[in-house]
Amino acid sequence: MVVFECVACGAELTVPLSRVDWPDHAGRTVGNGVTEMPVLMEAGTYATNSQVVEIAPGDVRGVSWATDLFDTTSCCGLAGYDAPNLWCACGQPVGSRVDDCSAWQGVQLDDAAVRPVGEAEPVAGWEAFEWDTALLDGADVWWHDRVAIAAGVALARIVIAAGDATVAVPDGPVAEVFRSHLDELLPPAPEVKTLALAGPGLRAEADLLLVPRHPESGEPWPVEGTAVPISAELWRWLANPDQQPCVPATGGRWPFLDDDPLPRRPERIALDRWVSRSEMSRRP
Ligand SMILES: [Zn+2]
Repeated sequence: MVVFECVACGAELTVPLSRVDWPDHAGRTVGNGVTEMPVLMEAGTYATNSQVVEIAPGDVRGVSWATDLFDTTSCCGLAGYDAPNLWCACGQPVGSRVDDCSAWQGVQLDDAAVRPVGEAEPVAGWEAFEWDTALLDGADVWWHDRVAIAAGVALARIVIAAGDATVAVPDGPVAEVFRSHLDELLPPAPEVKTLALAGPGLRAEADLLLVPRHPESGEPWPVEGTAVPISAELWRWLANPDQQPCVPATGGRWPFLDDDPLPRRPERIALDRWVSRSEMSRRP
């Protein structure tokens, strides 16, 4: 495990943490004015991209509020849009507490202001994770939001990987989620690339292979050919179409418990096209 410390003074700013894959929904908002968002990161974990280290709010230590730097552009809470709102005791701005409406709760440490110290734990093998389960926690009310965002990111990566080709998807769960969007986004072209799911226990031959990212390292499942890495959570759903976990079919949350009998597997994931557009705009 590693502890993040202040680059300026060496003070420890977190409890010991284990690395996990960067969540697709990190930094993405849900809805408009959703005020009761959950914490992004599980306690005791962190994820990092090139700019920030995401941790759970309860895992931060030794910081204080930079009250004169609180947001002027956030809505119901803090977001750190304007400037870091957390300082180390030495006076160095180190990150932001995020608790604005529609935002996943968390603390974002500035990658340039902190550094990891300690020895990272060995990465677990692929076999350490459950791949033959569509949904690990059927009472998880935020599952739809996370997977819809992950599918939006995946759509953008498929489109980018397709290049100038169109994409053909055989009938099945992958087609249910992506085909209509791909048909809309990709104009007819002379070249057609096939798309299929591959990963633990699942071999496939196609031009583009949707593979899971390792839940800890984020590395894609190794395949020969062009891999399109997607979130492990979305992959499990696509790879286990015969399972009937109990989740609201409409994409809503548990107030739909009024339904009787309870809806089972939703027919399709409500892929987040806003996320797709945002993701594609970041790439050439
Ligand atoms: Zn410091």
